[in-house]
Amino acid sequence: MNYAFTHEFAAQADEADPLRSYRERFHIPQHNGEDTVYFTGNSLGLQPKSAREVIDQELNDWAKYGVEGHFEAKHPWFSYHEMFAGPLSKIVGAKETEVAAMNGLTTNLHLLMVSFYRPEGSRYKILCEGKAFPSDQYALQSQVEFHGYDADDAIIELYPREGEHTIRTEDVLAKIEEHRDEIALIMIGGVNYYTGQVWDMKTITKAGHVAGAMVGWDLAHAAGNIPLQLHDWDVDFAAWCSYKYMNSGPGSVSGVFVHEKHCTDKDIKRFAGWWGHNKDERFKMEKRFDPMPTAEAWQLSNAPVFAMAPHKASLDIFSELDMSKLRTKSEKLTGYLEFVVDQISANSENVNFEIITPRDMNQRGCQLSILCHGQGKALFDHLSKNGVIADWREPNVIRIAPVPLYNSFEDVYRFGKILEEAV
Ligand SMILES: *Cc1c(COP(=O)(O)O)cnc(C)c1O
Repeated sequence: MNYAFTHEFAAQADEADPLRSYRERFHIPQHNGEDTVYFTGNSLGLQPKSAREVIDQELNDWAKYGVEGHFEAKHPWFSYHEMFAGPLSKIVGAKETEVAAMNGLTTNLHLLMVSFYRPEGSRYKILCEGKAFPSDQYALQSQVEFHGYDADDAIIELYPREGEHTIRTEDVLAKIEEHRDEIALIMIGGVNYYTGQVWDMKTITKAGHVAGAMVGWDLAHAAGNIPLQLHDWDVDFAAWCSYKYMNSGPGSVSGVFVHEKHCTDKDIKRFAGWWGHNKDERFKMEKRFDPMPTAEAWQLSNAPVFAMAPHKASLDIFSELDMSKLRTKSEKLTGYLEFVVDQISANSENVNFEIITPRDMNQRGCQLSILCHGQGKALFDHLSKNGVIADWREPNVIRIAPVPLYNSFEDVYRFGKILEEAV
């Protein structure tokens, strides 16, 4: 695309955008009576306008049926979670039997590590990214300590080379090779929350398996953002949250992927609950746990229907699209943001913006992380005062995510104008 930092260009690009009408399906937060420039869909996605109706449906059915709603409700609660397998499997590139919506993300990481972090003898270490999202760090650390290891010894962290911000695949592969007889589990965020770097999940998963390790991915910043092929990449397990790119509301339900080859293994160790039990026999309340031959085997409890209702509203929208269409727009839109930021940086004597997210589109989703050399926080405050909702991280990094489902080229243009004013 031949970009130009003009209103005319942005308007034309929006006009030509086949996904432009999706913006109207979401509530855009307001600032002084105007739409904000909402660039934090990587933190909390916007509310689908249909969410209220979907929640109301369940409130009404609860009022009308009481307990009978488990089978009589329009979307029976007994099987409420089953509605999500179809759309989720498309979003993450899985079979329907390999995904389940349940719990919160960190809870699911623990449940999955119970099954897939099985340290034994000299193979007990976990390879992960340095400066991982704090919850992931705490989860990994508490898992190794739970098994009686010392975190400083049992956790191997990956860091960028001196002077670089992102981690090279070749360095990951070298690290796997270096510790090949010690690594029990590789667990990394598929898209790094801070830099926006997309990892080469296929290559790393394969290398992990060659070394004899299990490989899991935290897809909090990947699901709904980039195309994924978890089944074909032979990933052992993954989990994500639905409130970032999947627009399902604050703290909304997480999703898990467990590869088919593990789903059908009845002997795998796990923490079990009744909603993971063979559903045809669930109400016989028999003594022995008989796991479903699907990712649902990791489910513990019956579905929290009100928390899941907005997830339904959101996935109904995703079902109308496919990830490749979203991706096509995402590349153009983020490319435009990159162009605008570079241009402002080149024309300014006061600031220098360094985009620490990879320049290569194959190594990023829609987020750009911008390191501000100069007046970072003041500049961020100016953005906020003028209706830009972005994210600030110490030291001096602004994260912005133009989300292809509801952000426009006009948003990027307006952002650029406000940024230009600030510098
Ligand atoms: C957002 C995010 C989380 C949040 O965890 P919750 O259990 O949903 O609170 C965890 N890990 C990563 C990598 C995240 O980006």
